[in-house]
Amino acid sequence: MRAFEFYNPTRLIFGRGQLEALKREVPKYGKRVLLVYGGGSIKRSGLYDKVIGILREIGTEVTELSGVEPNPRLSTVHKGVDLCKTNHIDLILAVGGGSVLDCAKAIAVGAKYDGDMWDFAERKAVAQDALPLGTILTMAATGSEMNSGSVITNEKTQEKLGWGSVHAFPAFSILDPENTYSLPKDQTVYGMVDMMSHVLEHYFHLDTNTPVQLGWCETVLRTVIETAPRLIEDLENYELRETIMFCGTMALNGILNMGLAGDWATHNIEHAVSAVYDIPHGGGLAIIFPNWMKHNLQQDVSRFKRLAVNVFHIDPAGKTDEETALEGIQALRDFWTSIGAPSTLKDYDIDASQIGVMADKAVKFGPFGNFAKLQREDVVAIYEASL
Ligand code: NAP
Ligand code: FE
Repeated sequence: MRAFEFYNPTRLIFGRGQLEALKREVPKYGKRVLLVYGGGSIKRSGLYDKVIGILREIGTEVTELSGVEPNPRLSTVHKGVDLCKTNHIDLILAVGGGSVLDCAKAIAVGAKYDGDMWDFAERKAVAQDALPLGTILTMAATGSEMNSGSVITNEKTQEKLGWGSVHAFPAFSILDPENTYSLPKDQTVYGMVDMMSHVLEHYFHLDTNTPVQLGWCETVLRTVIETAPRLIEDLENYELRETIMFCGTMALNGILNMGLAGDWATHNIEHAVSAVYDIPHGGGLAIIFPNWMKHNLQQDVSRFKRLAVNVFHIDPAGKTDEETALEGIQALRDFWTSIGAPSTLKDYDIDASQIGVMADKAVKFGPFGNFAKLQREDVVAIYEASL
């Protein structure tokens, strides 16, 4: 393990009926709330009315920012920052999936900064402060509800960049699995692919002596694999939604990766695809991750073999380590296909024409990946294998 410091200040409020916690949490921060949400799913599900009802009951002054896009745009962040500054907002309350939460995080730091929030994404400045943020999660996927990261798309430059700040942790996050009942099957699948990808990013690390972390990762992966096929046939099953929601948070709240540096190249490679083509993040990851694995197999065959045996129950008897490892990668691909995830860029009508453009975007900050360092030509090869 490498030396580490673990810090996570988010109050996680999990379970049925926990929306009531708004009554005690919101007044801690003040009276003026910016309510941030997406394209309308929370109005259709009835959650919006419940939230507004509680906010009225406790005498909150509500300003709204609706229409946050999947793959949230910088222009929407700017709108939110303006609303915070003109309305002297005390607390941002994000209700939605990872896109809404990520946008709200960017607004929170932008509201306390004189320049453009994009400076943080470009690594030109480091956030020094933020407005407090509360979240009500409606989609299990990103882990944004309990981490300090955010991903924003600058539509002018066609860039999608992740950034993070210790000031961007939500102060509290309310996770009621019932609020994910209305999430359609395809988005449910993308979310499960995303959380599995977060675990896989941790799993592929070069740090030694991480048996607990590897075991935790395997448990989360096996749990999603066992739960997913049942959930997609039974979208309003409380226990299955609860299990997946817990997996999504645990996958990226800093616990599984204590003492190690995960790889994170696949996320970077996917962000360049969604920057250009605006595809769902989880869909892009399902296409790319198995190809990243094949490309980097030789970095440590034993890690891929371990994944095959411990997560996909591949019998290694009579096989070389490499054969077992490759069977594991195929099992991951087959699993994602079996639940309806895409497997090639062609599934999104993406051809080879923009590969160079996407590769340039992926290497914006130089070679990347902690398990395997990727150069531009590696990224091109992974895109080509994904066609
Ligand atoms: P999302 O983009 O937030 O939501 C996808 C779609 O699902 C939206 O159309 C949304 O509709 C809908 N939806 C959400 N909850 C729903 C519900 N309960 N019922 C019906 N529809 C619902 O998806 P996401 O996967 O959570 O977030 C993806 C973004 O997060 C990407 O930009 C990705 O790069 C980023 N990301 C962030 C992190 C992080 O750590 N911060 C990690 C990985 C990825 P409405 O707009 O109408 O609500
Ligand atoms: Fe992700």
